[in-house]
Amino acid sequence: VLRTGEQYLESISHRSKAEIFVMGKEVDDVTRNPFLKPSVMAFKATYDAAWEEDSKDLGRAWSPFINEEVNRFTHIHRSPEDLAAKVKLLRKISHKVGACFQRCVGFDALNTLYITTSIMAEKGRKDYYQRFVEYLKHVQKEDIALAGAMTDAKGIRTLKPHEQPHPDVYVKVNEVTKDGIYVSGAKANITGVAASEEIIVLPTRAMTKEDKDYAVAFSVPLDTEGVKIVVGRQLNDARRFEEGDIDGLPYFYNHEGLVIFDNVFVPMERVFMLGDWEFSGVLVEIFSAYHRQGYGGCKAGLADVIIGSASNLAKQNGVEKASHIQDKLTEAVFLTETMYAAGIAASLNAVKVGDAWWVNPMHANVTKHLVTRFPSEITKITTDIAGGMLGTAPSEWDLKNPKLRGYIEKYMQGMMDYSAEDRLRMTRLLENTSLGVAFMIESVHGAGSPAAQRIMFNRLYDFKYAEEVAKRLAGMKSEANFTKKPEPWRETDTERVSES
Ligand code: SF4
Ligand code: FE
Repeated sequence: VLRTGEQYLESISHRSKAEIFVMGKEVDDVTRNPFLKPSVMAFKATYDAAWEEDSKDLGRAWSPFINEEVNRFTHIHRSPEDLAAKVKLLRKISHKVGACFQRCVGFDALNTLYITTSIMAEKGRKDYYQRFVEYLKHVQKEDIALAGAMTDAKGIRTLKPHEQPHPDVYVKVNEVTKDGIYVSGAKANITGVAASEEIIVLPTRAMTKEDKDYAVAFSVPLDTEGVKIVVGRQLNDARRFEEGDIDGLPYFYNHEGLVIFDNVFVPMERVFMLGDWEFSGVLVEIFSAYHRQGYGGCKAGLADVIIGSASNLAKQNGVEKASHIQDKLTEAVFLTETMYAAGIAASLNAVKVGDAWWVNPMHANVTKHLVTRFPSEITKITTDIAGGMLGTAPSEWDLKNPKLRGYIEKYMQGMMDYSAEDRLRMTRLLENTSLGVAFMIESVHGAGSPAAQRIMFNRLYDFKYAEEVAKRLAGMKSEANFTKKPEPWRETDTERVSES
């Protein structure tokens, strides 16, 4: 059943056992905690999107698994248009919250497990697929808020999981019983985790035979015994405790957290990979491409908010007609629409795997690679347009102090159509969005750091084919009959599987 945003809030406010820590203190109710509330409200927007007039067509999809309409964030892509709808929906929700709304990792984890378990079923490991489909139905019926946890703590980066001095810096299976498994370890940088109800855990890298205890995928509710969440700090985060309504962008934000599993029991029906190290590389590739595609939507949407703020500040400062300002805004538009166009290309050039659709891996990696570069360019431009106020504006508490109010209203005002408060508000919005974690840091590292995409470009691009094309045109002897190499993901799949 499609839940409303209110139903989501209601559900997570009643969670009792979950161990969530913010700045060293345990949190009772994430919906009331001033540090986490902005994240919860941004997450809630993914539920509201399925009901609001301007987004509900994108926010819903039809599920053949439960024969009902579901929230798109729980949907398995059935067509290239579904994938494009994801990108469009993410751009739209960014407009509503101006932050990362944190539900896409869980969404991508569902689609990844659907495809991976069906590939495993093809190779004779049938249980996982059936178990996963049962789990999927539960997620769709209950419209569960999912976090996806992939990146392990990783310890010494040059060592494989089983070589680490601390054997559980990658999440590890400690024990297998007939009812389930016990796992220990930690996943880092987990987006939105405190605002979610369940976590899907996936392996973070291709594993070897020696690492088979680390080749594990499962899901657990957040309030499972032994699960602990340590919420990370961010730039300007203490402003949320001030409870103002200008400085802290108090309504919407995002968070990341460290998730610790201290010998956590996972019932067997929630285990979707167990020791199948040959499939971990395929899983990682499928997941990362899905998540890289999505950035073309959400980061373009965030860029729209940033461009809008800068454009308005230019008006407030009376410089909007200056040709260099117009040229800078034009450049920001070009950068934004390029990221989005790549995300749409990754969607419409999708690949069918069984009865589901995966993104185009080359174009998904291109999308993310653009996102590692363009947001900082856009921020450079909008910082320039906004002027030095972006770093020096008085606080809202100065504006609210009767001894200062008159002065601030006079000296912080620009064009007479706008008040000083308008200028402070817009400046803070630009500060919180353009210089925040979601735009400046997550754009670089989320869904894989830049080098990871460059590795994929090399793997996916058919250099041999390109060379044969050139040789033929140059009048050299060309041995090729213009056949391209087989679909790389399929090749990867069989390559890895045959190693077993
Ligand atoms: Fe979704 Fe973008 Fe946030 Fe990732 S960074 S969870 S794709 S909004
Ligand atoms: Fe992300």
